[in-house]
Amino acid sequence: MFISGEEGKRLCTACRKRDAVYRRISSGEVLCKLCLFRSLVKQVRKAIHYYKMVSRSSSVLYVIRPEAVAESVIGFIIYKKATKDFNLVYNVLCIDKLTNCDEVKHYIGQNNVGFITIESSFKPQKFVELVKYLDAVAVKISKKLKINSVAVPLFRDELSLLSLLGILTISRTIFSEGLPIKNVDSVKIVRPFFYVISTDVAMLKVLEGVDIDSQFLMECDSFTQKAKKILFNSVELMYSNVKTVELMQSYIFGISTRCKYCGAFSLNEVCEICSRLSQYIDEVN
Ligand SMILES: [Zn+2]
Ligand SMILES: [Zn+2]
Repeated sequence: MFISGEEGKRLCTACRKRDAVYRRISSGEVLCKLCLFRSLVKQVRKAIHYYKMVSRSSSVLYVIRPEAVAESVIGFIIYKKATKDFNLVYNVLCIDKLTNCDEVKHYIGQNNVGFITIESSFKPQKFVELVKYLDAVAVKISKKLKINSVAVPLFRDELSLLSLLGILTISRTIFSEGLPIKNVDSVKIVRPFFYVISTDVAMLKVLEGVDIDSQFLMECDSFTQKAKKILFNSVELMYSNVKTVELMQSYIFGISTRCKYCGAFSLNEVCEICSRLSQYIDEVN
């Protein structure tokens, strides 16, 4: 996806000033680093405004994903830029033992950002378990510290996969992870990267030289591998999926209640995934 070599040099289609360094799969545009960054900020702003993800002068807990550390760090820089008019109080949550939090702190733990580290004995087996765990733990900390919202850097392709998997397995709780916003009591869980594709962020990470390895990796099951391939071959599917999710939400899952840990649609007070994880959620205090 890099454009390299003298003869291959092209001007950025957005600014028409700088050399392009990246061809975007979603649009075919070729972009310079700055225009890629600006475009991602714009996509985040769009989600934030459309879904009312932040309110002025509120506080937010931004979660570092243990299996996508560098993407989370770059995501935070994008998120901060996109919310700069909102006068937010920023906190970052890092899960020690799963993540090298000192390294993360080196990148983002300054400039009036609260840095919260927790220890965990949890070893997630599935991606959706990790997502639920991060949501539930972040909500718990937010309630304790009176933080208004939790922001998790999950990307368009990942959210599409979760909602598709939820529909295919008729699982309310998995389906809910594809939604832009969930609520647990007074805490809002938001996905500010609702329109952002992970490959764009991965490229920006390389261009910016954010070099943090994830100590913890998640293996993809065969469904995820196949579905990813289909999604990346048809970017339209990733975006058309947004509408499907909105329609399905009220139609199929309207009669559900909400899980008290993760805010997902559920038939019981605690969804089936959080009930499996409850000992790990409860150990955080
Ligand atoms: Zn440009
Ligand atoms: Zn749950």
